[in-house]
Amino acid sequence: PEDVRVYEFAEACGKSPAEVITVLFGLGMMVTKNDFLKQDELEILGEEFGIEVTVKDALEDANYVEDYQEEEIDESNFETRPPVVTIMGHVDHGKTSLLDKIRSSKIASAEAGGITQHISAYTIKQNNQKITFVDTPGHAAFSAMRARGASVTDIVIIVVAADDGVKQQTEEVISHAKESGCPIIVAVNKIDKEAANMDMVKSQMAEREMTPVDWGGEIEFIGVSAKTGEGIDDLLENILLQSEILELKADPNAKAKATVVESSLEKGRGPVATVIVQNGELKVGDNVVCDTTFGRVKAITNDLGKPVKSLGLSETGSILGLNEVPDAGTVMVAQDSDKEAREIATKRAEHARAKELSKSTKVSLEEMSGLI
Ligand code: GDP
Ligand code: MG
Repeated sequence: PEDVRVYEFAEACGKSPAEVITVLFGLGMMVTKNDFLKQDELEILGEEFGIEVTVKDALEDANYVEDYQEEEIDESNFETRPPVVTIMGHVDHGKTSLLDKIRSSKIASAEAGGITQHISAYTIKQNNQKITFVDTPGHAAFSAMRARGASVTDIVIIVVAADDGVKQQTEEVISHAKESGCPIIVAVNKIDKEAANMDMVKSQMAEREMTPVDWGGEIEFIGVSAKTGEGIDDLLENILLQSEILELKADPNAKAKATVVESSLEKGRGPVATVIVQNGELKVGDNVVCDTTFGRVKAITNDLGKPVKSLGLSETGSILGLNEVPDAGTVMVAQDSDKEAREIATKRAEHARAKELSKSTKVSLEEMSGLI
């Protein structure tokens, strides 16, 4: 944004420099035609002239170019990466129970060390192939992540209780899942129950364009029980099948990039961010930037609560060392130096503040002009 001058802006939107200067003057900003326009000024002008001004974040552009190049160059470095799976569904249909059951049945109890606490993301192995699961904290968070373009999920599992069928949140989840463009698997849970009715679920789902494969559609329906563990292997096999079709690949040697799925401020530990690695390897000692905050990775705890030196592709763990708590859905990127990480975060924070400020300035000026 620092490189647009008043006259250039005027030219681009078919106004005279005088018109632009007058508008800004009316809002208490003094500029000449050769001055550079600040981001907030550009936004205000956009609103005044009723045109859409897209201010590109030069930093994000830089990241975009890197991503693009990673995909263009040297695919020989790419490795198949494990799928990241999100489980969604109506409240009480068994999302948490299913996640817990999958975890406890796939992790040797010695390894897990008697873990009882539920965690937001973990990786298991099925037939020696890894799968990472994420518990969606809520649909709002999922939407927020999508809005930020954080496509952390590769496959969506919709859980529907076999005795309850499609409910309001199931409908919401169906539309979220469809929008995400991810392959969908329906896990019909609680098949251990007497009142379980697979056909009822299938027909309710078919009415919503989620036709089962055995009814001539494209969606796999797997009957499962988070209580007995029945069907879980089936579900996992199906996930691996879908994942194979997706041909998920990433570069383990690229600059580390990870998405925050949960974050908090913990007493004695400071900001903690649970992340899933999307590219490269995230290591202790890395200088990272995460949205408007930054830091040096001080420690990493894996999904079993054990300290580790690094996290690989699609792996998940908690990161210590950030200056502030980042939002879920933001992306952590390793930088070459502490200086770079700090600079990028600071610039982003400044932009965010300027934007907030321009909103409040505009409001107060409008209020004032009403009084004059
Ligand atoms: P969530 O809100 O979707 O996370 O659902 P929960 O995992 O908290 O489960 C809601 C309730 O259903 C709990 O009382 C579970 O014990 C029960 N439940 C979950 N899965 C099963 C299942 O497969 N069979 C039976 N019988 N009960 C289940
Ligand atoms: Mg739950």
